[in-house]
Amino acid sequence: MTDSRLLLGPGPSNPYPEVMEALGRPVLGHLDPEFLAVFDETCERLRRAFQTANALTLPVSGTGSAGMEACLVNLLEPGDAAIVGVNGVFGGRLAEIATRCGATVIRVEAPWGRPIDPDDLLAAQRRAPGARLVATVHAETSTGVENPLAPLAALADTDTLLVVDAVTSLGGIPLDVDSWRIDACYSGTQKCLGVPPGLAPVTFSARAAERIRTRATPPQSWYLDLGLVGAYQSERRYHHTLPISMIYALHAGLGVLLDEGLDAAWARHRAAAERLYAALPSLGFEFLVDESHRLPELTTAFLPPGLDDAVARSRLLDDHGIEVGGGLGEFAGRLWRIGLMGHNARPEVVDRLVEAIRTLI
Ligand code: PLP
Repeated sequence: MTDSRLLLGPGPSNPYPEVMEALGRPVLGHLDPEFLAVFDETCERLRRAFQTANALTLPVSGTGSAGMEACLVNLLEPGDAAIVGVNGVFGGRLAEIATRCGATVIRVEAPWGRPIDPDDLLAAQRRAPGARLVATVHAETSTGVENPLAPLAALADTDTLLVVDAVTSLGGIPLDVDSWRIDACYSGTQKCLGVPPGLAPVTFSARAAERIRTRATPPQSWYLDLGLVGAYQSERRYHHTLPISMIYALHAGLGVLLDEGLDAAWARHRAAAERLYAALPSLGFEFLVDESHRLPELTTAFLPPGLDDAVARSRLLDDHGIEVGGGLGEFAGRLWRIGLMGHNARPEVVDRLVEAIRTLI
């Protein structure tokens, strides 16, 4: 067994030490009052991290994709129209799940490596005003692009809900669910929250919760039915056994984030990224994404000529204990995805990576 790895790929990232400690706490029953107090406080911490007052805010059991699926299976019914922004793998996954929900999917695309113009999403909604929802990815981990969200708040004046993937953005870059009038937002624990993979925080606005309550048909997923899951939160009604230790871990990770403060955590991610941006060109790397839309927590950079992707990543892992991610789709073999997320968004981590890369070229 490997002692430790420095996880600088697209996720998971290395958890905070406080989180690893929390994972070792005794397991309690999921209806034990002591556990319920931790659960409730975790939900309250999630509200602060998402910047929302939404009552229906909780961690779904499962990774980020469970959060994605929970949003779509609860909000869509067969025959609905869903407008989906696609400029990478995760926008594509949203479209795929919406299709499996029986929705007619209207794709609004941008080339990989470029942001989706929010006006294109708003124009698509004007052409299909009956659309149930617009879904888009805030931080597209497959390319390192931030999709601008704030203009989409205009959807709140229509009957179309706004659904946002914040798997790689929560805790790493500004995300303001209530001010941006997001109706449903999901995340994952293993990126900027500095917690292992296993939970998907979600939050639903009052009108999204109402939409779930007034569905004509129950969601096709029993496990992810938020009417049932939400009843555990509000009435302690058993639905499924919660992953107790993961709730402790999330509670601890959110504690670290909120003690630091959201602004400070975002600034720390930005400062680490800028240190990396300053070093990579001198090593021969070229950025995929224009600086105006580059994610601080996930940098995509083309490899210098002559550096073989597979060989270099194996050497980083074997000789230096560092994992970085490879490119996806048309970028496979050509670029790296370097994550500086949560506990890893620190200058000494950047320096260790840069020194390691220097030995490869
Ligand atoms: N959405 C985005 C933007 C992601 O980066 C990921 C994972 O990398 C997911 C969704 C899916 O999350 P998971 O792999 O935890 O199921």
